[in-house]
Amino acid sequence: MKYGALEAGGTKMVCAVGEDDGTILEQISIPTRFPEETIPPIIDYFKGKNISALGIAGFGPLDLDPDSETYGYITATTKPGWSNYNLAGTFSDALKIPIGLDTDVNGSLLGETTYGDSAGLSDVLYITIGTGIGGGILSGGSVVHGMQHPELGHIRMVPHPKDTYRGKCPFHGTCLEGMASGPAIEERWGAKAVTLSGQEEVWELEAYYIGQALADLILTVSPKRIILGGGVMHQTQLFPLIRKAVKKE
Ligand code: ADP
Ligand code: ZN
Repeated sequence: MKYGALEAGGTKMVCAVGEDDGTILEQISIPTRFPEETIPPIIDYFKGKNISALGIAGFGPLDLDPDSETYGYITATTKPGWSNYNLAGTFSDALKIPIGLDTDVNGSLLGETTYGDSAGLSDVLYITIGTGIGGGILSGGSVVHGMQHPELGHIRMVPHPKDTYRGKCPFHGTCLEGMASGPAIEERWGAKAVTLSGQEEVWELEAYYIGQALADLILTVSPKRIILGGGVMHQTQLFPLIRKAVKKE
């Protein structure tokens, strides 16, 4: 059988057609603009592909409560035009096939634990550190949703004693996302994260916050593996620093 997959991101929409074993047969990418410009070409792409279901991993926040009248909607987002947009319903009306929907991070988590290195593990934490920070939790083999979905990028941080930065999060200031996202690094140090590779103090501080968050999450979730993704983690020197920081907590 063939399936459709859509990664609905804030910058781009990645559409793919694949098979049961995870083989991707084809894929395209469409820039994310307003919904009325963005969604019709995606529907056209999937029409005629003979897919039997479509899985969507989307930017949120999403209403994922199956009993809710607005199930499948993007709820209040800062992305212009997308608040209260019926993401799942628009595709199910147009394509008349079953639609699976989850957050972008839960999509990555599911991919990693189905086809990736963590296949077969029952308890896994996935965190992306990019423009924002978000995460997904696989616990006892199931993706944790709770009432809606976790927002673990917004857990509060104890600021480093030497760090005077006020934080980038418009809601909490010094939460994990506020202190450790790509834009937070850029604002704190006055340069793009990618240009700061050689500056040890940048990554020591970054590891301090990521390590603090991971220590809290390890105590809460007890994962067998933690997967760190997102643009900032291209700084691979972070991995040993984070391991050290977690042990220190
Ligand atoms: P998004 O979160 O928007 O989906 P990414 O995961 O690529 O996309 O994250 C983008 C963020 O990651 C930006 O803030 C950027 O500065 C940062 N970033 C991208 N590449 C690197 C890199 N090689 N080193 C450090 N930071 C990076
Ligand atoms: Zn926050």
